[in-house]
Amino acid sequence: MKAVVALGANLEIPEEAIELALGLLREATDVLGVSSFYKTKPVGGPPQPDYVNAVCILESDLPAMDLLHVLQGIEKSMGRVRTEHWGPRVIDLDLITYGEILSKDNELTLPHPRAHERAFVLQPWLEIDPNAHLITHGAVSELLAHLPAGQ
Ligand code: AMP
Repeated sequence: MKAVVALGANLEIPEEAIELALGLLREATDVLGVSSFYKTKPVGGPPQPDYVNAVCILESDLPAMDLLHVLQGIEKSMGRVRTEHWGPRVIDLDLITYGEILSKDNELTLPHPRAHERAFVLQPWLEIDPNAHLITHGAVSELLAHLPAGQ
């Protein structure tokens, strides 16, 4: 099944953190495509450095929760420390969609509950899949076109 994963980092050298996370993802799954890296301003949280964001599409046979645990294992192995909500992070990996799975579980909500309003997810996703859509909110191109300025 195809999964869309969003990557973000804003500490140390963010581009390197994203490359490293992609390398670890390649060991656990079949990464089919990776977007360019985008420099973005932090949304919410305390004053902090700019982010680098990217999206990748991968193929996996893992059950959804196992795939989430792979992402969390990568975050952990890269030393992500959970201090402040929406605070700076070495690496953040979010599962945006996994096939057509719909889940309202707090531990794993699918599609990701905030993906539809985040330009830093929608823009790189659209770059690598012009037909990208969210089963809950529709075409990514439309969502992006209607986001408030500055998002
Ligand atoms: P964050 O700190 O924003 O990365 O949020 C991590 C928390 O969100 C963890 O407790 C996850 O279990 C939960 N979560 C719920 N849905 C998702 C998802 N689609 N992708 C990643 N984490 C998720």
